[in-house]
Amino acid sequence: MIEKKTLDKIRELPIEGVASRLGLPVSRHTSHCPFHQDTHPSLTFHTGKNSFKCFVCNAHGGVIDLAMRVLGKNFVETCEWLANEHNLILERWKPVRKPSANRHYALDTEYLESLVTPPVLSEAAREFLFDTRHYHASVVRWLGISSISRPTPCWRYGRPYFDAPSLLFPYRDVEGQLQSVQSRYLGPKAGSRTSKSDIPRFRFPRGSKCHIFNLPILKLLKEGEPLFVSEGITDCIALLSAGHKAIAIPSATLLNKEDMQLLSHFGALNLHIYPDQDIAGEKLYIQLLHLANQIGACVTRHSLPPGCKDFSDYYILNH
Ligand SMILES: [Zn+2]
Repeated sequence: MIEKKTLDKIRELPIEGVASRLGLPVSRHTSHCPFHQDTHPSLTFHTGKNSFKCFVCNAHGGVIDLAMRVLGKNFVETCEWLANEHNLILERWKPVRKPSANRHYALDTEYLESLVTPPVLSEAAREFLFDTRHYHASVVRWLGISSISRPTPCWRYGRPYFDAPSLLFPYRDVEGQLQSVQSRYLGPKAGSRTSKSDIPRFRFPRGSKCHIFNLPILKLLKEGEPLFVSEGITDCIALLSAGHKAIAIPSATLLNKEDMQLLSHFGALNLHIYPDQDIAGEKLYIQLLHLANQIGACVTRHSLPPGCKDFSDYYILNH
């Protein structure tokens, strides 16, 4: 006779753990069905209901049903087996984690470094940087901006890291170690008549984890010197070209407390911002204000003249 309490405990054993213990490898809540000749995994586990069901042979039930059928034992024997395996199932079994999207795309910084060192500026890149945007050559050099004319075949994953033609912006940590590279597509604008595809303007290779552009500038910052924070790289280059010290956040939503602590560590406590004239700009400003407060930094807000949606516009207007 098995106590009801014990029976309840057995019924609550995680079904996928029980299945693994029974020799059924579980992946993404499915397994090959042991009750019919199964070529594709047809046995599905419902972890919420703690049950299983085969969509081919219609075998179904809970933990005890599964174990009974696989072991070929009677009810009491099966419960005893499960009770004995109890600790093994609960302690040794861990749910199979869904493969993360980035798992197969560990960032190959060595390869990325080879794309930006030494920097190469194509005709299209020069035209954009110097003729259209009027950026300062010394700034382009300092940032190590590079470019590609052909999509980068990535030998490791068989897919291009970047579309082409594109500018390449290296993201480095304070010490100059490459973290990732962001591309800015220089081809026809997405959705335009000449555009063949919907290639996004800015892109990071998969697996990138970087928040701040131009971190090496922190080492050059003198005590109390203003540091401009911009949203996006192009505003940052414009700010630098205008003679300011500046960093960029790729997106307002990416700014976090660790980044701010890094700024504070380097004494960047006199922050300045020209918020973009849109909701995202306002969001970044508010978030920066909030985070600056936590590290004891102050934020000075500058306004753009009417008709300029961001600092890049303003900068071009002055050149
Ligand atoms: Zn089946």
